[in-house]
Amino acid sequence: MQTLRASKCGLSTAQLPSSILDVIDALNKAGFEAYLVGGSVRDLMLGLNPKDFDAVTDATPAQIKEVFGRRCRIIGRRFELAHVYSGRELIEVATFRAPPKKEITSAAGMILRDNNWGNIEQDFARRDFSINALYYQPRKGIVLDFCHGVDDVKNKTLRLLGEPTLRFEEDPVRMLRTLRFAAKLHFDIAPEILEIFTPEMTQLLRDISPHRLYDESQKLFTMGHLNRVLPMLIDFDIWRQLFADIPEQISIFIERAAINTDQRIQMGKTINPAFFYAVLLWESFLERCAFYLHKGVVPAEARAQAGLDVLKRQATRTVIPRFAETFIREVWEMQTRLLSPKPQQIQALSSHARFRAGFDFLLLREKSGDPTTQGMGAWWESYQLMSSDEKERVISQYNRQRAKSRRKTNLDEVLESKVQSVEIEPLVNEPEPRVRRERKSRSRPPERAVPSTASGAAGIAYDHPILKRKRVKRDLNQVVFGPTQ
Ligand code: ATP
Ligand code: MG
Repeated sequence: MQTLRASKCGLSTAQLPSSILDVIDALNKAGFEAYLVGGSVRDLMLGLNPKDFDAVTDATPAQIKEVFGRRCRIIGRRFELAHVYSGRELIEVATFRAPPKKEITSAAGMILRDNNWGNIEQDFARRDFSINALYYQPRKGIVLDFCHGVDDVKNKTLRLLGEPTLRFEEDPVRMLRTLRFAAKLHFDIAPEILEIFTPEMTQLLRDISPHRLYDESQKLFTMGHLNRVLPMLIDFDIWRQLFADIPEQISIFIERAAINTDQRIQMGKTINPAFFYAVLLWESFLERCAFYLHKGVVPAEARAQAGLDVLKRQATRTVIPRFAETFIREVWEMQTRLLSPKPQQIQALSSHARFRAGFDFLLLREKSGDPTTQGMGAWWESYQLMSSDEKERVISQYNRQRAKSRRKTNLDEVLESKVQSVEIEPLVNEPEPRVRRERKSRSRPPERAVPSTASGAAGIAYDHPILKRKRVKRDLNQVVFGPTQ
């Protein structure tokens, strides 16, 4: 173990908010050791703004609670720690941990409980990367480095502590963390990690709870380097473990959305992480809509049911919280409304709570070359910049054009064009949605039998996982379509 001068590592108390110093001081005063550890030390050394500050101490959670009283809340079961509120900040204070006991690891070697208190050496050994295992005591002005972590920060190398296979088996989420830090910090992944980071290894992620994987996916989406991490997720075969039904390749739409997300974060703008989920699952949603339309379900219900199905299937990998699911479905639903708004509803639509997200989504589709938006992205973009007089004028202009063409220019048509001559087993066994009574005499117009590729959105790929589940093949000529067709 090396004790280094903090100033030599580019660290000083001036970089720290007083809230974190208060927490360290209070623990020291009560007779406990306290250090800053993890991402904050690493980021400060790299001249980055730490996302949060993690402190570590030899005080147990109960003792931390005694020191901070009502300012402290004990959280977590698998990994118990204290949340201490100091000023406006929330500081995570963890207790030094010893290696987990045998009985609380799963058959695959995964740690199920991790609340075995220990000393600082033991705590160090169970951290993930050398760069995350530097202990900074700001009052003493020292950094404890057990593993040449400072050198790894300088050399920009991501090195796991201990034997890489064992460390991934203990906690497969470390695979996601590897890619996250490599993308965020522009670090190289050490060769011994690359060697064992195989598709077989990523299968271990199936054992991780879908709730935890959702949290991790959010960290990947919101770190500000989403566009850099996406190809890595595919290369390392993590993509398939995280998402139930997304394309093997990054579409222009997904790429643009990633770039856009990163730019917003860089500009300090807020982002809703569920937005990116809406982008990722959009194709699956369209395909599922097509499936229901094919069955003769009315478009509005086809969309509603498709949204539920896609999200339910995704929940087998990452459980998206209910509020985020609602957001995603509303963004999708907005696409129909924005594409073919009723003139008298344009004003109200533009002040709808979900308008902004729906519009951003539409514009992204349009800028990604999706012709099915029919220029409505640009239309709404300029509409928002107009004076009320101009708005009135364009609405009546739009009204006249609409009356003239009476074209069917909504999402439903796009969805219909994606209908394929295959019968697909439902993704989820929900009660059958209402199917409009069909006029038996009406058969499907022949031109609809062929999916339109001009729609810009890909048709259902034949190796799509949904199709692999198909059991019955039906002759499309026999399919009777309802009145909405
Ligand atoms: P950031 O907060 O910037 O995402 P971080 O390194 O601080 O990065 P946290 O998730 O806040 O990441 O974790 C704090 C520290 O806890 C890490 O730096 C690491 O030392 C340790 N840690 C977190 N998750 C794990 C894990 N799965 N396995 C081992 N150690 C971990
Ligand atoms: Mg952190």
